Amino acid sequence: MLELKDVHTYYGHIHALQGISLKVNEGEIVTLIGANGAGKSTTLRTISGMVKARRGEVLYQGKPIQRLDAHKIVAMGIGHVPEGRRIFPRLTVEENLEIGAFLESDRKIVQERKEYAFQLFPRLYERRTQKGGTLSGGEQQMLAIGRALMQNPKLLLMDEPSMGLAPVLVDFIFETIQNLNKAGKTILLVEQNARIALQIAHRGYVLQTGRLTFSGPAAELAARPEIQEAYLGGH
Ligand code: ATP
Repeated sequence: MLELKDVHTYYGHIHALQGISLKVNEGEIVTLIGANGAGKSTTLRTISGMVKARRGEVLYQGKPIQRLDAHKIVAMGIGHVPEGRRIFPRLTVEENLEIGAFLESDRKIVQERKEYAFQLFPRLYERRTQKGGTLSGGEQQMLAIGRALMQNPKLLLMDEPSMGLAPVLVDFIFETIQNLNKAGKTILLVEQNARIALQIAHRGYVLQTGRLTFSGPAAELAARPEIQEAYLGGH
């Protein structure tokens, strides 16, 4: 479904991605783990077109997308739940969701998708008239996921959904990710919480300063001593 071939991305002179090649098959949860600054967010931003690869190819359903504008990539079925949630603090929960459906002109479809988001996250329904900025961290994460779902993406890019959340909420968010996957969404999940990410993912990649160092089935990665040492707090 998604393939990166030797992707290089820069921020000015900083060579953030130094030749990334990876694949995500339809129906999978694939996780990308790595330390702070390894380039995980940059990988997702390169896929969604927020930053442009200087070299290499990003193929989605066999088509190169690395030169397309971000809104075209959204229209093709790729949703991005960005790091830090990036919700609109002065807009209500409902308005934040509606903005997620900016490419959809059919009000009935927008309404149905909003209802789907509220069904997934009843807490958002309770808070629908509240301003985004007044939500708790967990609620903001729910809103960021709900907003990305408003375009009915086939592939969901999720950037550190567990960041800053209490353990019970982390569990809830990861259950939701698994349920979305069972409902047909393909997921590329970036996480610093490698332990839980490897528990729910089918496969994983390990990123270290802009390069991939390991890849394989999630259970195999979790069993590797080097990975346990560096990312799972040792054993
Ligand atoms: P984190 O979990 O800390 O966000 P990450 O693995 O997602 O880490 P990236 O955010 O992708 O890492 O950053 C990769 C590299 O690119 C880092 O060296 C970072 O400092 C640099 N970088 C990221 N964003 C920018 C930017 N907007 N301008 C300049 N450099 C950037």
